[in-house]
Amino acid sequence: MRALTYEGPYHVKVRDKPDPRVEHPDDVILRVTRAAICGSDLHLYHGFVPDTRVGSTFGHEFTGVVEEIGPGVRSLVRGDRVVVPFNISCGTCFYCQRGLYGDCEASNPMSDLASGVYGYSHMTGGYDGGQAEYVRVPFADVGPMKIPEDMTEEDVLLLSDVLPTGYQAAEMGGITDGDTIAVFGCGPVGLVAARSAWLLGAGRVVAVDRVPERLEFARRWAGAEIVDLGQVKDPIAVLRELNGGRGPDVCIDAVGLEASGSPWQTLLGRKLKLAPGSSVVLDWAIHSVRKGGTISIVGVYGPPANLVPIGAAMNKGLTLRMGQANVKRYMPHLLQHVRAGRLDGKALITHRFPLEHAAHAYQLFEAKADGCVKCVLVPSG
Ligand code: NAD
Ligand code: ZN
Ligand code: ZN
Repeated sequence: MRALTYEGPYHVKVRDKPDPRVEHPDDVILRVTRAAICGSDLHLYHGFVPDTRVGSTFGHEFTGVVEEIGPGVRSLVRGDRVVVPFNISCGTCFYCQRGLYGDCEASNPMSDLASGVYGYSHMTGGYDGGQAEYVRVPFADVGPMKIPEDMTEEDVLLLSDVLPTGYQAAEMGGITDGDTIAVFGCGPVGLVAARSAWLLGAGRVVAVDRVPERLEFARRWAGAEIVDLGQVKDPIAVLRELNGGRGPDVCIDAVGLEASGSPWQTLLGRKLKLAPGSSVVLDWAIHSVRKGGTISIVGVYGPPANLVPIGAAMNKGLTLRMGQANVKRYMPHLLQHVRAGRLDGKALITHRFPLEHAAHAYQLFEAKADGCVKCVLVPSG
């Protein structure tokens, strides 16, 4: 089959790989119909994620059609169309039983950090991902959700990650009626967090980014006021003016690693006197949120950025919540929002490419060029 593989930092290509096969009785093999590229894939692409091996296939947001079925699978038949959560979860371990699917210990026994994840390095189990013609899906009775007959692949594709992640980001903010929410990052995750904040009762939503097209998207699609980092010298001061001069009640970090190690950090870090390896966004969030406020972190962090201004957070009595999204927990509920048009994930898809053009798609998405918000690969129809 053809698959998008990692060849080294900033280098991916589409090449031949052996077809995946059923390895355990509860596996299925999917023919992939849509596979999105995520901001999390950029951390791999940038070479930030430890133990990302050359030749591994990326892709943790996908839909597909069931082609082959292991003898233990009960709930799927050949030909079923499914959307698959990015967390691989067993459904029965201590964490899965508590709805913490992103912490499943059976799908990634080598690590105590997170569950297995498709196409996300050997740190999360070494599973090949869905940016390919075919993908192996373990624990197939647990994760995949059948696509309702009256819905298309693209209607539900973002239920695999971005919709649950953005929604969980807003939910972890503990929003109460009328709260002021600041969302850092207007990528797909931040946009969904902004829109979800309204669904959870926010009174004011402010989105922060530096890419004009994405800010415009936040204004139009998520109904947010915007702070353009290209125009504003001191984002902390601007945010602190909100909410009667107290600062936002909740700050959501939907940026993660990009805010460290980037030229922006070098630039801003000098001004802000940030320690090397600390995160611009966490610094801004902690210093701008009101006292007693909440920081919700869904941006992914790792070794290049592990320093946090913990003294300020402690003295301000903040609540910090964070984590990988527990996708499966949210799917049924969010499907209703999708159906009703309240969370129209499909509207975020700005670009589609055949799988063969995946390397170009990565370049475009990484550069945030051409108004690109969400890029989708189409391995087969
Ligand atoms: P993306 O790369 O498309 O978007 C990130 C946005 O942040 C960009 O628009 C960029 O311009 C903006 N940005 C960069 N520096 C900034 C700064 N200092 N202040 C404000 N904005 C800034 O990514 P995405 O797909 O939206 O994902 C966002 C983050 O969420 C990534 O870190 C990704 O890994 C993470 N993520 C986490 C989970 C989870 O389960 N926790 C799931 C999916 C994605
Ligand atoms: Zn993702
Ligand atoms: Zn489990």
